[in-house]
Amino acid sequence: MRISKRVMQIQPSATLELSAKAKQMKSEGIDVINLGVGEPDFNTPKNIKAAAIRAIKEGKSDFYTSATGINELKKAICIRTATDFGVNYEPNQVAVTVGGKFSLYVLAQTLLDEGDEVLIPLPYWVSYGEQVKLAGGVPVFVTPENGLKVTVEELENARTDRSRIVIINSPQNPSGLIYTRDELEAIGNWAVAHDIVIITDDMYGKLVYNGAHFVSLIELSDEIRKQTILVSGLSKAYSMTGWRIGYTIAPAEVIKKMGALIGHATSNLAAVSQYAALEALTGPQEVVEDMRNAFEERLNKIYPELTALPGVTLENKPQGAFYLFPNVKETVKLTGFASTAEFVAALLSEAHVAVVVGSAFGMSDHIRMSYATDLESLEEAVKRIKAFIEKRM
Ligand code: GLU
Repeated sequence: MRISKRVMQIQPSATLELSAKAKQMKSEGIDVINLGVGEPDFNTPKNIKAAAIRAIKEGKSDFYTSATGINELKKAICIRTATDFGVNYEPNQVAVTVGGKFSLYVLAQTLLDEGDEVLIPLPYWVSYGEQVKLAGGVPVFVTPENGLKVTVEELENARTDRSRIVIINSPQNPSGLIYTRDELEAIGNWAVAHDIVIITDDMYGKLVYNGAHFVSLIELSDEIRKQTILVSGLSKAYSMTGWRIGYTIAPAEVIKKMGALIGHATSNLAAVSQYAALEALTGPQEVVEDMRNAFEERLNKIYPELTALPGVTLENKPQGAFYLFPNVKETVKLTGFASTAEFVAALLSEAHVAVVVGSAFGMSDHIRMSYATDLESLEEAVKRIKAFIEKRM
């Protein structure tokens, strides 16, 4: 059957594909350690599950909701945003979606016309560019000269008359780095000056470590906030990946149009997930802190072990999210592989450790490893990688 050109131009999600492969190997009885997908290993906190069960019992989850979500949840998102960042929004500026991923997808569809350019700093999360292409836009990838964060000068060099959006992700997936307030202010003022919409992907905003401080673009000046659309979700901070809860905060006219599109796409996020989200945001927040602490401990344990491996370099210790994004160019050379992709494939088939190849994030000399898994497995993974490398040196 003929497949559309639109879909033929996209690649499958490397993170999801790898995770599916690792799960398949596991189901065949192979002892795979999956550091591929970014998915917390904790179960969803009990109070959240209980709220979902209550909603089912009370029949609240039996019907469609408004396309952009139930009003109580939108209000709860506004209150949480006001509490966390001191910024006030109204429920008509909020859309609840099937994961943060679908927020980004709908935004691309809502904001882009054919040929509009979206500036996407490297390294980027796997789906940004593909979603832009699906909306008829053109992803313009911006490579940082030094390190893994772009500067405003680099964005300016990539800007053209067709530049319409810039996507900023901090803490960044895959590097775990955080853009500082000064860096964000510079980017924000530049975007305002050139009328470029900022989409800030704050999905990992609650997961920062070792005293690092996360600043959201919405906390900056009124001008920057008006130019900024926020995307976030509950998957990572509340360990709710399977519930698919994401949201957008944007000008009311954008939300209205997003609602029209969502109404033709998914109708709404499953009502039961919305009631679970309501509890997550309004219930006790200690659960987030407990999980954050666990991630911090894992990072601090695993970072020195990983960077001690032959050829592996990772100058800047991650400050947030739950990924390590080391450069393994030297390791690939030392072990005689022709490419990082071959190294990663052999690591999975021989050492049974799943990591994502850096090209999925625009940087082919790197690999991404998630530490959202228990310490014992992480340490075992590093041991296996070490043995795998040493065997071939
Ligand atoms: N965002 C996570 C990751 O980067 C989950 C998988 C996905 O949606 O790509 O691994």
